[in-house]
Amino acid sequence: MNDIAICTAMIGLDENRQLIVTACNNQFFRLTGAPVNDAQTFPVPFDVMVTDSALHQFREKLLACFASDRAQQPEQIQDIREGSVWWRLSLKPIRHQRDDASVREILVTGFDMNAKIDQRQEPEVEASRYRALVDLAYDAIVTMDEQHNITLFNRAAENLFGYASAEVIGRPIVTLLPEKFRADHPRRVKQFADSYQPNLRRTSAPRMDETNSVYGQHRDGSIIPVEIAVSRINLNGGVEFMAVVRDITDRARLMDLLKKQATTDALTGLPNRREFLEYIETLLGNTDVFSVFILDIDFFKEINDAHGHDAGDEVLRALAKVGTSMTSRPCLFARWGGEEFVAALPGADASVAYGIADALRKRYERQDFERVSPLESIPFTVSIGVVTRESDEADVDTLMKRADRALYRAKKSGRNRVEAG
Ligand code: GH3
Ligand code: MG
Ligand code: MG
Repeated sequence: MNDIAICTAMIGLDENRQLIVTACNNQFFRLTGAPVNDAQTFPVPFDVMVTDSALHQFREKLLACFASDRAQQPEQIQDIREGSVWWRLSLKPIRHQRDDASVREILVTGFDMNAKIDQRQEPEVEASRYRALVDLAYDAIVTMDEQHNITLFNRAAENLFGYASAEVIGRPIVTLLPEKFRADHPRRVKQFADSYQPNLRRTSAPRMDETNSVYGQHRDGSIIPVEIAVSRINLNGGVEFMAVVRDITDRARLMDLLKKQATTDALTGLPNRREFLEYIETLLGNTDVFSVFILDIDFFKEINDAHGHDAGDEVLRALAKVGTSMTSRPCLFARWGGEEFVAALPGADASVAYGIADALRKRYERQDFERVSPLESIPFTVSIGVVTRESDEADVDTLMKRADRALYRAKKSGRNRVEAG
């Protein structure tokens, strides 16, 4: 740890919530002005070790970092300047578990900016310091030259993409992209380069793709959803592009889950009312014939009252399972709400739709299906109102109201029957 040019330390809190240094390298001693002590035992109270005048600011930043309970800012770069002191530090909160709300320790890395100026003549030190910092970064960092070949690939990039740095340096940047984005990449880089204005104050890092849906490709071919911030660097008269790439697989998975939850009924797993209405809207946009029906369980309240609410739920699940397999034709069977279900039958005219609805009604009546659970068999029947889209009908509400009226007639005329509207 003492071989690296940057200072690094681990800071924790003791039981009285006082800052303690639990580990550090020699550069950290130098930075804080404490005498280098190879025999130092840890932990050391922070206030004993850091005696410099900038102590106060540094302390406040650490305490603020401990107090923040969100993982929003995985790493913060802090400049602490006071008198002749100018430290550039990165504070990285460490949580022991992924979903740990509280910060357990802080990994401090950084260097004395004044020392940096003094060491300008030592390019090797400068380069190794740069390399160490880049490798310590939480995010993948990849740079490329004007020919779009990779010139730098940090450790996080190695982990993210599965290549060793030596394997990809000099290779085209599109190696890291899924096949279908490769052809368009040079145009997007050019567009970005032309519009890039580093002097404008911006609240967020410049983005190559504001839509956020950017993908990388791992060495094994798997696609990785990533968030990417790109900047242009002028280097010895040439131009390089630096991309900071963050894996957002977890976030993308969460978004998919939320999307699924928003369109799915939790009890039956069927599409929900919203999903059904959206589907009807697309059908209404076409000129093709289609039919819909509404199905309502007869005297369902009595089933709940006689067998309990859980048994009622089982009936709903069994009904849902049968409904999804009612026909080999294209069909969307959805939960409308409560004990009411709906079906959309694209391509089905009035007589086909009536036939499908009545066959389904009979299957329920005969209990002609496998039970979802080994619970007692609960007989039930359903009433159905079926309608076919009229040629000038473009409104989902009117269509569903017609189906509802047909259902009402089925109930009125004795239940366990299908009425066409
Ligand atoms: P009808 O033949 O006129 O349709 O009579 P019904 O008893 O089926 O109609 P009603 O509208 O009076 O009752 C519907 C019942 O459905 C009342 C409600 O408690 C029950 N219900 C609605 N959603 C659920 C659910 O998710 N689970 C269970 N177990 N019951 C539900
Ligand atoms: Mg009802
Ligand atoms: Mg009912």
